Amino acid sequence: MTDKDALIEKKLQQAVKARAALEDAHKDQITTFSNFAARLAVSCKGQDVALDNQLAKFRQALTKGVSFDVLAPLINNITKALKNQEIVNAENHSKLSVTISEAGKQLQKLKGIPDDTRRKLRYLLDTELPEVNVSYEFLPVFEKLITIYKKVLSSKVGLDGENATTSKPELASELLTLTNEITFEDDVAKEVTDIKTTLSQSAEIDVLLDCSIAIIQIIANSIARERQSAQGFLVSLNQTLEELHASIINTTNSTKHMSEELSGLNKQIETKIKLLNEQTQKATSISDLKELVDGELKLLRQDLVKREQLEQQDKAALLDSFEQINTRIGVLETKVNKYKKRLSEQQFKSLLDGLTKLPNRAAFDDRFNQEFHIFEQHGGDITLVVIDVDYFKSINDQYGHSAGDKTLQVIARALKKAIRKADFIARYGGEEFVLIMSGMPISHAKAPLEKVRNTIKAIPFKFKNKQVQITVSLGATQFKKGDTPLAAFDRADDALYEAKNNGRDRLCIRN
Ligand code: GH3
Ligand code: MG
Ligand code: MG
Repeated sequence: MTDKDALIEKKLQQAVKARAALEDAHKDQITTFSNFAARLAVSCKGQDVALDNQLAKFRQALTKGVSFDVLAPLINNITKALKNQEIVNAENHSKLSVTISEAGKQLQKLKGIPDDTRRKLRYLLDTELPEVNVSYEFLPVFEKLITIYKKVLSSKVGLDGENATTSKPELASELLTLTNEITFEDDVAKEVTDIKTTLSQSAEIDVLLDCSIAIIQIIANSIARERQSAQGFLVSLNQTLEELHASIINTTNSTKHMSEELSGLNKQIETKIKLLNEQTQKATSISDLKELVDGELKLLRQDLVKREQLEQQDKAALLDSFEQINTRIGVLETKVNKYKKRLSEQQFKSLLDGLTKLPNRAAFDDRFNQEFHIFEQHGGDITLVVIDVDYFKSINDQYGHSAGDKTLQVIARALKKAIRKADFIARYGGEEFVLIMSGMPISHAKAPLEKVRNTIKAIPFKFKNKQVQITVSLGATQFKKGDTPLAAFDRADDALYEAKNNGRDRLCIRN
């Protein structure tokens, strides 16, 4: 073997190595796609069966490491399924539009609607109904609301006459219950609370009509906002997929083109080496041979350099598009996360206390006002109890805040277990809990509340290997005629103070 042959051999080996690097880059790409498909599948799951299936196929194909030619049509199908999903949403939206506008027309035909209400109603019907996302919880509520509204109107114009099937207070409480079924985001929450307060104070027909209209309007606005965000999400998902699709086709095409050129070049090189061999054997003089070999080798070297350049280009193009795809996936991921966060914020209503998983202060306020409203309408025995952990600060001080947190969790669970199913308990704040016992006269409340106190006292807490007893103080009162929610709460609080001042670990009752 001559030096020149060795050089050619070395060059060829370098070329083989470059090819292997290219193949590694392909493998990386497959992994990235695989991860992408997995994320997509999780974020879209349950929206649409066809879409789920397409994504599953896509992932399966990726695990086999198939070529982009096979993946491209799969991505095409996913994009189509996404588009279908949007069409389904639009169809559902138009069905809802029809239901609502028909209900509205019927309402408008009723005689005796006050001018103001008629105007509001017309405005509502004239405004284009916002596009709606089907999965949304508002849809059934909306329909029920319209039914209630119809009932209120019939009652107003006296259609039901003396044998009205639903009484005014019943309608008010139906509306109240319905409003409680939906949770609203921050800015609207206050508006809704105001409406609830109005509803619990009056069951006048005009008030009911106004409240129904106000709630319908709030829901319509919320739907519009929700739809916008869902729509925006789908559109950007679609765009990203389309870009991804285009970029894969690009890569596939350029890779194909390059490999055609490469294999042409390889053939050329092979031919030249073969030719060189033949000519070498035929050469008659050393100088002939030298000249021949020099010339041919120069050409060959040029070819090899060109070949290497091509491969470098190929590799750079792949890496480049690989990077682009990565960036797009990053952007999509951020969007998916934002959307998921929004959804979960809506789903997990802010009515549960995070630490103890008991209803929180807001949930208590809702329930308290509701119970009070029912009490005002129908009377009954309702006992309200405020429970506060004794010397809780010292638990934190001696054993640390996280021991304090765990203690609160244990106490909350024990409280929940110690009360009746019908009772309502909430974490009012800090180490303070409130209990509403409806159908429980204060004269009967002593025994069950002493049981609650003793249950907590008996919990075998152990911190830093030391047995610790924790107690609670309780203040109780009963709703009475002429009360306001605030007055009743203050009485229970006063009773709690008395319990604290008299040495804690006791129940005090204020009538
Ligand atoms: P008292 O018998 O008079 O009620 O005494 P106390 O120490 O229980 O009452 P105080 O109001 O002085 O202190 C309550 C303490 O509860 C203060 C606060 O650090 C603690 N606390 C409130 N919320 C939490 C919580 O979520 N986790 C923990 N670890 N501690 C809390
Ligand atoms: Mg305390
Ligand atoms: Mg306290």
